[in-house]
This record gives sequence, C-alpha cells and structure tokens, in this order.
Amino acid sequence: MFGFLKGLAVTISQLPKKKVTLQYPDVRPQWPERFRGIHQLSVERCIVCGQCARICPTSCISLSGTRGEDRKLHLDTFDISFEICILCDLCTEVCPTEAIKMTDEFELAAYSRDQLYKNMEWLHENYLRHDGAKELQEAERPAALVGKAGEGRD
Ligand code: SF4
Ligand code: SF4
Repeated sequence: MFGFLKGLAVTISQLPKKKVTLQYPDVRPQWPERFRGIHQLSVERCIVCGQCARICPTSCISLSGTRGEDRKLHLDTFDISFEICILCDLCTEVCPTEAIKMTDEFELAAYSRDQLYKNMEWLHENYLRHDGAKELQEAERPAALVGKAGEGRD
C-alpha cells in the first residue's frame, strides 16, 4: 500500500509540469538548425567535383556527369543509399557550392531496401521542398514589396 501511494505521489507531482513528449505524427518535432536529416540536392549548384563521394566514409554516394557545350560539367546521376548513410554530415561540409545540404527530415522507414536508395530526382525534389522553396519566397518578396510601393500612385 505504501509503495502504491508513493508511486501515486510521484505521478501527481508530475502532472503540472511541462510535457516532454509529442503526439507524433500529429505534432511534428522542431529540430535545432544544425539537425542532420535526409539530404537535399540542388542540381543547378552541383559542379560534379566529386568531393562529397570521396569524403563519404561509407561510400554511399555515387554520381556521374558529362561536360556540356559550355565546357562545364553537368550532373547526370546522383544517388545516395540511405541503407548505409550514417548522416555524418561530412559530404555537406566539403561541398564547395552548398549543392548538397541536410534537412530536418528524418523519416526513412521503408518496406524494402530499394526504397532507401534515393536518386538525383528525389534529392532535387527534396531541395525544392526545403531551401528551394525558401529561396523562391525570398526572390518573390522584393517584387511583392515593389508592387505594394507602387499601389495608389496614380
Ligand atoms: S552524411 Fe556521411 S555517410 Fe551520409 S552520404 Fe554524407 S558523408 Fe556519406
Ligand atoms: S561536393 Fe557538392 S558540388 Fe561537388 S559533386 Fe558533391 S554535391 Fe556536387
């Protein structure tokens, strides 16, 4: 009986305290800025230098590119196998153009191993959902301000 009351007292003492658990997936966690989640890749920024693939400790990045008429290298394929990626962040550290970056996405559970293989299109779409969307918003902001400033001038 004493043990039960002691346990009840502990439970009651915790009730007014701030909750530390979330009703996931209805409530999404807010990760710190430097959270290491699933990558995004800006295909336009990539200069096909291969530094990310060279530094990767698990060799889970494979990429290829061809030289265009402008004499610049353009990305043809870029794959990451999240089956073996350890989300160490080294690939993003060495990238000279910030083409590859990490996001705050973390849901990698899949029914088959094949689904853990993300290609260039998938990684670029992830960029469009994250930094790409922010950059677009920022690019549109001055135009919207100019529009506002011009309103009611006539
Ligand atoms: S986060 Fe680390 S393991 Fe994953 S692709 Fe980048 S360098 Fe490789
Ligand atoms: S380090 Fe950056 S620029 Fe170089 S190949 Fe990797 S993603 Fe592209």
